[in-house]
Amino acid sequence: MRVYENLAAVVGGTPLIRLNAVTAGIAAPVFAKLEYVNPGGSVKDRIALAMIDAAEATGQLRPGGTIVEPTSGNTGVGLAIVAAARGYRCVFTMPDKISEEKQAVLRAYGAEVLVCPTAVAPDDPRSYYSVARRVVAETPGAWSPDQYSNPHNPAAHHASTGPEIWADTDGCVTHFVAGIGTGGTISGTGRYLKEVSGRRVQVVGADPEGSVYSGGSGRPYLVEGVGEDIWPTTYDKAVVDRVEAVSDRDSFLMTRELARREGMLVGGSCGLAVVAALRVARELDADGCVVVLLPDSGRGYLSKIFNDEWMYDYGFLDRPSDEPTVAEVL
Ligand code: PMP
Repeated sequence: MRVYENLAAVVGGTPLIRLNAVTAGIAAPVFAKLEYVNPGGSVKDRIALAMIDAAEATGQLRPGGTIVEPTSGNTGVGLAIVAAARGYRCVFTMPDKISEEKQAVLRAYGAEVLVCPTAVAPDDPRSYYSVARRVVAETPGAWSPDQYSNPHNPAAHHASTGPEIWADTDGCVTHFVAGIGTGGTISGTGRYLKEVSGRRVQVVGADPEGSVYSGGSGRPYLVEGVGEDIWPTTYDKAVVDRVEAVSDRDSFLMTRELARREGMLVGGSCGLAVVAALRVARELDADGCVVVLLPDSGRGYLSKIFNDEWMYDYGFLDRPSDEPTVAEVL
């Protein structure tokens, strides 16, 4: 029988799909690694599984324990899936800019969600980092994976994402492009691809304008899951050859293009990464081979990026003139 014992068995092994429409006029092929086909719907299933396995092995996480994490949603889903199967309780903290749908998903898996203000410094006691630390200190049997410092975050990508890309491109990949949040994806995957290619593969980060990785001060931006106002230890600067800063507007318009023209309903950090990937691909001839990692699905952003009113309100789309719509004419 071709069956699996549990959801953990189908984490990873995601497909590379060529981008055909948004790449018009570009000679080098650009392949999207579609992470939304993971069982929890994002790239973060990979690290959730690796971090929990490691914590069980070292005894940091024991039967009946509580998993506490500051997460924008995707890591939470990955942790919640494994926790549901293995009987752990989950408490997640997140900034209030995160969409309601994402909070609702975590609650659906049985997790407790604490929503904290976005516009405070990371060391402010109200920040979602500080609140998570306090919950750990006050809860017996609590363990925090801390995806911002846990070496099993980049290690999971070194062990799976990197080898998958190398194998699926028959070693032809020349450039790897990914957004940077904790930096786990780009550091682990990038390090593997550098090692296996004798440092031939170029590693390019995509960062929201205003975030520290591209020289910003941490000023707020709207794209979720990427960019930081702190430098996490999971980010290995030495692996990254170049960082491209991308605006919210360009990220969101590309995200909508990916749905309409490629049939890929993906999140805002995917649009951001594709904008950076196309900048890189435009510089290459047909011998180039660009792989861009798309972290999650667009389902969590229907009330924002895919909602015209929201896009008008932020000025990312021009409000149409007073001309009657097709519905009004009929
Ligand atoms: N995009 C989204 C939607 C994410 O949730 C994350 C994780 N924070 C990333 C991109 C960035 O991945 P990483 O943390 O591995 O840098």
